[in-house]
Amino acid sequence: MSQPCGLVKCTRTSRGLCDCCKQNLCLQHLNEHNALLISELDSLADEINALGDRFKTLNIQKTNESYYEKLEQWRVQCHQEIDRFFELKNQQLNECVSGKVREQEKEYNRLQSKVAELIREQETTKQDIDLLTSSIHHLEEQLHRIDRTYFQISIRPLVIDDNSICINETIEHEIDLLNLSSTYKTINYPLESRMALSCNDQHVLIHRKPNLCLIDR
Ligand SMILES: [Zn+2]
Ligand SMILES: [Zn+2]
Repeated sequence: MSQPCGLVKCTRTSRGLCDCCKQNLCLQHLNEHNALLISELDSLADEINALGDRFKTLNIQKTNESYYEKLEQWRVQCHQEIDRFFELKNQQLNECVSGKVREQEKEYNRLQSKVAELIREQETTKQDIDLLTSSIHHLEEQLHRIDRTYFQISIRPLVIDDNSICINETIEHEIDLLNLSSTYKTINYPLESRMALSCNDQHVLIHRKPNLCLIDR
């Protein structure tokens, strides 16, 4: 037996179950409801287009540049640190090598001028001769020693800790309490006090027993 259309005041015979309102409707109302559904597609298309425009306004390029600047700054500072360390060690090594030679050169000059002085004066003693002879032998030994000196340079490769640069994802104005860094400082605080524990330009940290509240200014 045929049923009437499910809509109030419509006397036509129902022709089928409408997908949107789950009522048995006449052919005319089925068509109307169908047209309404189809018209919703247009507004969905508009929303999708608007989302497409959002991609163009995402400021990925700008933020990427500022991230890169931070990494670049780290890279430059590390290179400077390596250069500074290299220069220091290079100086130490030069000092080790030429410092020893300089010392012996001083002794050589002293002996040379001493002998020249004695020859000029045409006067010397047995003690002078013995002292000079022993000093010359000592200098010879020292030069021979320097000749045989090598430096063993042990070098460990530089290990860069992966934690030197940590990349954590956060969303503006959201605070990830699961991702707090390690303790910076601990303070003793009166249990009943309600004064701010700490603050910055965005948040105030307050102890309200038994809670620790982070309040957005
Ligand atoms: Zn319907
Ligand atoms: Zn109807």
